[in-house]
Amino acid sequence: MRRLLIAGNWKMHKGVAETTSFLESLLAEDLPPAVDVVCCPPFASLPAAAMMLAGAEVGLGAQNVHWEASGAFTGEVAAPMLAELGVGWVIVGHSERRTLFGETDATAVARARAAQAAGLEVIYCVGETLAERDQGATFAVLERQTSGLAELDPRRLALAYEPVWAIGTGRNASPEQAEEAHAFLRVRLAGAFGGGAAEGLRILYGGSLKPANARQLLALPDVDGGLIGGASLDLRSFSDIIRAAAARAAGVDS
Ligand code: PEP
Repeated sequence: MRRLLIAGNWKMHKGVAETTSFLESLLAEDLPPAVDVVCCPPFASLPAAAMMLAGAEVGLGAQNVHWEASGAFTGEVAAPMLAELGVGWVIVGHSERRTLFGETDATAVARARAAQAAGLEVIYCVGETLAERDQGATFAVLERQTSGLAELDPRRLALAYEPVWAIGTGRNASPEQAEEAHAFLRVRLAGAFGGGAAEGLRILYGGSLKPANARQLLALPDVDGGLIGGASLDLRSFSDIIRAAAARAAGVDS
């Protein structure tokens, strides 16, 4: 069985002081060993977080990365710089990067390749908008967004299915919608890397995942964890989601 992964995308929240106190409290929790946990603070908080998480069971992720290793790219951060800090993960292709900052499928693949070349694990985000879903274009969009996956290293890759209409809206995908999309993505992974590799790869669900719906969504056969925005900012709700994942890993419906 795939190990469940629960990753918190803090977006542009929590400076150094808040990061430090949140991680202190998270590390004091009795976190279940059966679940991989990753926190992705903003860039400015990464050095403080890296110091706190060195040697800890909680992984550290960034929310973006540039595709070049160095150069004249004002305001950007390169993958080797993240690796040097102790960052182990990076989110790539998040819908906010796609809609607000011009991310395309090609740039997302380029970022992911650079991240993997520096030894980072990539959480590669895909997902349709509400208009695309309403037009019946969900699978066509997911197909397009995953067309460059074969260029990536499956040993350092997790996908995140994040329907854009569910992100930060409080409205999550239904279990049927989520499982259907995840199963489709598993087929896409098989096309890119072969069936055996696809069976081992994690596909996270993201979009208003919270304690109230975590058990239901995390119980789905092709859902291997979650990428969590809003609910990852609060220790109680993040920890409850981690515990829901642990219950699924243990085969317990607690
Ligand atoms: C996200 O931004 O990746 C996300 C899933 O946000 P939220 O959980 O707040 O919908």
